[in-house]
Amino acid sequence: MSFIHLNIKSSWAGYSDVKFHLAPLAQQPRALLSEVEAHPWSTLGPNIGSDESLGKIRQWISSCQASHKSCGSIHGHHGSPGLEIGTFFPTRVIDVEEAEAGVIFLRERAEVTVQFGTDNEARLPTSTESSTMHKYPVYWTLSHRWGDADEMPRLLKDTESQLRKGVRLDKLPPINGMWPTFRDAALLVKRLGYRYIWIDSLCIFQDSDSEWQREASTMIDIYRHSYCNISAGFASYNPANNGLFRRRELCERHLYPAVVNIDAQLWWAWCIPNWNDQVETVPLNKRGWVVQERFLATRTIHFAGNQVFWECLEDINYESKPTSESLADLERNAENCTTMKDRKAVLMFHKLKETTTEPYPPPHDEERSKEIYESWTRIVEYYASCGLTKESDRLIAVSGMAKAFQEATGDTYMAGLWKGAFGRYLTWYSTAYNGGQVRRSEYAPTWSWASTTGGGVEFFDWVEGHYTSFFKLIGERIVPEPPNGDSFGLLLSAELDMECMICYLRLDTGWRRYDQGKTWVYHDEARSRCFFEGHSNTDIYYDLIDSQDKFEQANEVGDDFVCTFIPVWKQGNDTTLCLILERDVNNRYKRAGLLKWYQYNDEAKSPWDNWTRTKSLITLI
Ligand SMILES: [Zn+2]
Repeated sequence: MSFIHLNIKSSWAGYSDVKFHLAPLAQQPRALLSEVEAHPWSTLGPNIGSDESLGKIRQWISSCQASHKSCGSIHGHHGSPGLEIGTFFPTRVIDVEEAEAGVIFLRERAEVTVQFGTDNEARLPTSTESSTMHKYPVYWTLSHRWGDADEMPRLLKDTESQLRKGVRLDKLPPINGMWPTFRDAALLVKRLGYRYIWIDSLCIFQDSDSEWQREASTMIDIYRHSYCNISAGFASYNPANNGLFRRRELCERHLYPAVVNIDAQLWWAWCIPNWNDQVETVPLNKRGWVVQERFLATRTIHFAGNQVFWECLEDINYESKPTSESLADLERNAENCTTMKDRKAVLMFHKLKETTTEPYPPPHDEERSKEIYESWTRIVEYYASCGLTKESDRLIAVSGMAKAFQEATGDTYMAGLWKGAFGRYLTWYSTAYNGGQVRRSEYAPTWSWASTTGGGVEFFDWVEGHYTSFFKLIGERIVPEPPNGDSFGLLLSAELDMECMICYLRLDTGWRRYDQGKTWVYHDEARSRCFFEGHSNTDIYYDLIDSQDKFEQANEVGDDFVCTFIPVWKQGNDTTLCLILERDVNNRYKRAGLLKWYQYNDEAKSPWDNWTRTKSLITLI
């Protein structure tokens, strides 16, 4: 038997940041040995972007196109009106027809329409639909991290004519140099047999604010109509120097299992394909603007450090994915390491588009409705942890996704929340409780998760059971900036009028956070009219790190804790989620945090189920 022995101490020691799985040799099927002896790694080239890489990408695209219903509904014949292939085209694109000769061109949409009808027609799916449906050829898009904006290639009034006439890939204006990601993306699109790619900095004038605003509002269409999005993940570590194509960080042999000798014992060892390290956590995918590029695109090809990863609505894949059963068994664990939660949200979100004329979710389908609304909480959790260069972009950079959600559900959007499940969305909490350096941003109302910056946002899991709402939304005043502007974008102000039960809480001296303590709830701020006295478990989640720190310190020295709050909704019999408020002026309040009230006694009623007083009308800002 001639399997490969590697001594893990010497040969593999160089890869300190690469995680390997180990499993005793004897416990694995013998068939595995013959699989490995067939040298599956020989189907990978040493470089990402080699002919072998391109071959895999072609296979992924064609099987996605041929058999994925969800992906096809956007890019096939049976999709929603208005979302079929060829019905949208960006204002400008980059033409890569001459990329192999080292030259690219900037084209206007009108030029592309004129050219269309000759050689590009062959690239469209045949269709029996009317000829006006397929007006434009397909185009690709690029998700990339900008370098220093002044030192990268871009479209300016001064560079426009050069770009139109055609520029060499190694002399891109205005830097008169090469930008590796743009060069490789152009070559990739050309080599895969396509002609157009949209790249933000080359297709939007970078010296015109009005142009930027106009094009930013079409971003939703640019990405969701993109045939395939290229994600320059690894390049984002150093965008000025790294492109898509490169030597793999790990040689291709190490992307497959091997038998290693550790202290005279034989083990299987294999590298985790590690979606998480290679895709999710690269600097690019931690950028706020990139979240919706990825969520809105049907297909994304991630160029990572070790290999190329595929992500479409129905599948993820990677170059080293085993094609045989026994190898796949060995790697099954590894796949579980990926953050699939976010992908499910992506899929759920795209499924919204399958609907045609009926608003979604259908009113009778509660289960489905819940899934749809839950997908938004996953999107927020994902997006809120990403960084933005400009704090004022917090709502703008998520507006494309919000618009797509709105189109499908017909729901009302309110500063990052949806009216259709308003209580659910109000009860977000920030990661300040966990040390997240969360601060308040002035660009959103305090009741919206969008008013936090510097940390993450989370939601409690939606538990099966009965829900009771304790407030009523009376009115809302969401004013865009400028006032006639986009209500999904920048806001001037956003106020809610709510009918609710204002309560004042006191927790006992010596109370500790996760302990069951003595609790009083009062009707009045002076705490003279008590209506609940007993034991509860009360978790406090302040929105901002400063407040959370103060709270923890007071807790530490055993001070009484007092706060103003309103119950929002009760989940089952025992848990009530409440907002901690701070008074502003004139019955206006700001949100300060979330309070999770857990009742120990088995009573089906909470203190608020017995409320008989007139409710208060407050304004939350
Ligand atoms: Zn697909």
